Amino acid sequence: MAVTPKPSQERTELFVCTGCGIGEAVDAEQLAATGTADLKHPGTVSGPLCVPEGLALLRESLAEAEASRVVIAACSERVNHDVFSPASLGVDMVGRVNIREMVAWSKPPGEDETQRLAEDYVRMGTQRLLWSRRPERQERDIETALLVVGGGISGLTAALEAANAGHDVHLVERQSELGGWMARFAKLFPTRPPYRELEPVRIQELIDAVVAHPRITVHTGAEVTEVAGEPGGLEITLDQSGKRSSFPAGAVVMATGWQPDTSVIDRLGVGHLPDVVTNVAFEEMVRSGVLNRPSDGQPVKRVAIVTRPRAGLGAGGSTNGSNGAHSDDDFSFGTNVLDMASLKHALYATEAGARAYVVYEDMVTPGLYEAFYRRVSEQPGVYFTKGRVTNIDAAGDGGLLMRLGRSLLGDDVALPVDLVVLATGMVPSTADSDVLHLMYLQGPGLPTAKFGFSDSNFICFPYETRRTGIYAAGTVREPMDVTFAAEDATGAALKALQSLQLIGSGRATHPRSGDLSLPATRFSGCTQCGRCSQECPFSAIELDAKGFPALNPERCRRCGICMGACPVRVISFEDYSVEQLSATVKAIDFGPDNSQPRIVALACENDAYPAFDLAGINRLGFDAAVRVVPLRCLGSLNLAVVADALSSGIDGIMLMGCRSGDDYQCHFIQGSALASRRLENLVETLQRLTIESERVLPVEIEISEYDRIPEMVGGFVDTIRKLGANPYKF
Ligand SMILES: Cc1cc2nc3c(=O)[nH]c(=O)nc-3n(C[C@H](O)[C@H](O)[C@H](O)COP(=O)(O)OP(=O)(O)OC[C@H]3O[C@@H](n4cnc5c(N)ncnc54)[C@H](O)[C@@H]3O)c2cc1C
Ligand code: SF4
Ligand code: SF4
Repeated sequence: MAVTPKPSQERTELFVCTGCGIGEAVDAEQLAATGTADLKHPGTVSGPLCVPEGLALLRESLAEAEASRVVIAACSERVNHDVFSPASLGVDMVGRVNIREMVAWSKPPGEDETQRLAEDYVRMGTQRLLWSRRPERQERDIETALLVVGGGISGLTAALEAANAGHDVHLVERQSELGGWMARFAKLFPTRPPYRELEPVRIQELIDAVVAHPRITVHTGAEVTEVAGEPGGLEITLDQSGKRSSFPAGAVVMATGWQPDTSVIDRLGVGHLPDVVTNVAFEEMVRSGVLNRPSDGQPVKRVAIVTRPRAGLGAGGSTNGSNGAHSDDDFSFGTNVLDMASLKHALYATEAGARAYVVYEDMVTPGLYEAFYRRVSEQPGVYFTKGRVTNIDAAGDGGLLMRLGRSLLGDDVALPVDLVVLATGMVPSTADSDVLHLMYLQGPGLPTAKFGFSDSNFICFPYETRRTGIYAAGTVREPMDVTFAAEDATGAALKALQSLQLIGSGRATHPRSGDLSLPATRFSGCTQCGRCSQECPFSAIELDAKGFPALNPERCRRCGICMGACPVRVISFEDYSVEQLSATVKAIDFGPDNSQPRIVALACENDAYPAFDLAGINRLGFDAAVRVVPLRCLGSLNLAVVADALSSGIDGIMLMGCRSGDDYQCHFIQGSALASRRLENLVETLQRLTIESERVLPVEIEISEYDRIPEMVGGFVDTIRKLGANPYKF
């Protein structure tokens, strides 16, 4: 049940560490005395707290004082996590105050402003802890079976890995046969040294192992028509030849693979030419054992294999993108897998007695695959031609005439051939169709990233989708070959099993793995606006019959975006709330004569806060006017905190989150974008308070950009100095 957050009355101790240069940078005794106002007793100063002697002192003192909580003013909370954990110290809760990276390592030692900054951090950290309750969660019984959708190499591997790890698996395949595209190929490009010869397709052994496994139930000719519930307790409905059946599952691996990007045929305007085929059709021709022209059945003697074909040259020799740049269409599903497949196809052609012209603009054969490129280039009868297809048309002799621009041999080269093979892209199966049909408020589809791939955050969390407990494996996630797909499937299966373990113990999955807290709503204040349910990136909140939010806890990733969204501020976590953030900011002291600016950086804990830490670790000084407050995500920031801070006299606020847009970096998908949208509403509030809008600065930053921190902070401090003090300060 939700309660209004209020400060704790439990016995809380404060310890100030003097290790790592802290003792030289600040007056530690004075810092310890800072605690008295909030805790009713001063803190304790100690040498390094993380070493055995320091820890022994901490444990003994806490036991003696019968304290249930402790504030540790020392290094960043991003380090020594286990060393200072509640379990290690024998208390219920630990609050960390970062006076090492944020003060000692980034400010001039012994200066008044350095000391005031450290004292503010102690007051702020103490408030942060006082406004927290210990989250409690129970273990619970969950369904541990896995649903694997797609029976290609990825799905088969995921199913077998999970079954071998002791989980029941339901494998659902739309076709009547297992194996996916791999089973339809004539041969594979080499996967092992010396990377010279084509390999036979060995998928039958895997299929046999899956079919024979006692823990795996295979459903072929079947599709998922409904997924309801939440991870750990999903209800799956299938349609198998018109017959419906249901079963429970805990988590899902989605391995529904790819489809050929046939749109290139239209882009090149060659749909009317039967002897222009896709790479997939060429595989099938070779597998059938007959290499004849589809148009007239004549044997193929000359094959042009165009790898990653683009849409031709436009007027004046430019590409269809402006200024000769390639358009997104040209690139979207292109991948080195296509280049490897084109090399394989060149060997298919020569094995059938034909000549092969490999037409390329880029040829990418990563790592040891380079050896295969060399081997194919040595093959008699294979010719490599750099160039771009400008036109393909029927030739008088029943063959085709392909024209190339930008060729090494000139700008208009004519190549007579019998067959053109277009190595077209691999479009994810999720690009234009729903696979799982989720019974979720935000809709049945799995939200996809750029180009329809189902990954949630391509840099930090492979396999994660934007729906908790559902993991993507193989080519539905990004184009890859079968070796990578098998590895990928193993990773995704393990992620799914790991999520079940976490869910069973009431803990969050990625990225706040292990977090026990959950958002709770104080229904008495809720206006049933539904905004929380709309803005939750993971569709964790449904609405009950009366329109009140109903949380599906196991879908929740604890990002706090609902808390940031709620206009009446009735959503809070045990250890994270609007009240806690406001109390933290209000703990900032304006100094003896209000003469120095006081600026708050509300910084996302995923990139922005670590960037500050890294600036400190690299001893990059940044202005002591700025106090950094970590947020779970910039999207978790309720604008009430900003309005509260400004109306209590804070001179300026930096809102620091990850990159938004298509190439977003946000761990919670759209935190920065949501924050910017909400900021538009803040302008009105600022006008009402007659506060200049320049006092609030949104910043997008990546962790690797930590070296920008001094300049970024310095620039904003200059702006605030020019604006002068916030009138509400006085
Ligand atoms: C022309 C070409 C040649 C290639 N040659 C090679 C090669 O020689 N060597 C190599 O390593 N890689 C090669 N590749 C890459 C290879 O095809 C992929 O790595 C491989 O297919 C990935 O397997 P997958 O299981 O991820 O996807 P897929 O093979 O696409 O399997 C997905 C499975 O999911 C099923 N499915 C789809 N939707 C649903 C649904 N809604 N419900 C249930 N089931 C569904 C499909 O029927 C399919 O069986 C080639 C690619 C191309 C384009
Ligand atoms: S904390 Fe995040 S994932 Fe959980 S309900 Fe709120 S917005 Fe959704
Ligand atoms: S956003 Fe707040 S007021 Fe609106 S439905 Fe959710 S909890 Fe209720």
